[in-house]
Amino acid sequence: MKIKKRYIMPGALKRPQIRQSPKYLTIHSTGNAKSTAQNEHDWLMNPTNNRQASFHIVVDEKEAIACIPFNEVAYHAGDGQGNGNRASIGMEICESGDRQKTLANAAKLAAFILGEYGWNANKMVQHNHWSGKDCPRILRNQSYIKNKMNWAYFVSLVKKELAELQKQKLTIALPEGRQFTVMAINDNGSNYVQLRPVLEALGYKVAWQKNRISIGK
Ligand SMILES: [Zn+2]
Repeated sequence: MKIKKRYIMPGALKRPQIRQSPKYLTIHSTGNAKSTAQNEHDWLMNPTNNRQASFHIVVDEKEAIACIPFNEVAYHAGDGQGNGNRASIGMEICESGDRQKTLANAAKLAAFILGEYGWNANKMVQHNHWSGKDCPRILRNQSYIKNKMNWAYFVSLVKKELAELQKQKLTIALPEGRQFTVMAINDNGSNYVQLRPVLEALGYKVAWQKNRISIGK
């Protein structure tokens, strides 16, 4: 997926250039069954659009377009001066095109943003969290949900993507000087590793029976 940076011109209604330190990622759906990411970007730039409403980034089945820098306020959460508008990144998911592709892209993008800020998936909230609006409707509202692709499904996609991003090589050094490397997932400062490669590197044979691990030499 391509991520384009196409920042809109500063202005009081969309991009007031108020600084923010984001603490949350807020998920929206566009509420428009046909618009693409490019259409949504262009609507922010349209001189006839005089609503005080904007977002930071929008994603569809083929690309993402960043419209406002994440360290500036955008008006997307409907909570006035609350943390939705003043301390969160607004991400719009398009309703057009192939839903599965779009949600896969949205999950990659959400995980990328969460990872950049060192957040876990609990920092990702629905627009509904701030104002009670039925948004993101494509993930909340039964009449828009295709093939069980609801909020829980989306969160599971994001967690998977986040785990991929957080995979890293962890070196384990033994007292006798020997060392070996395993793959680890870092989540909030804790490293999670698979037991088998560690035990096998230590020279054990490993057998699993349900919840029991038998270790032999
Ligand atoms: Zn919304």
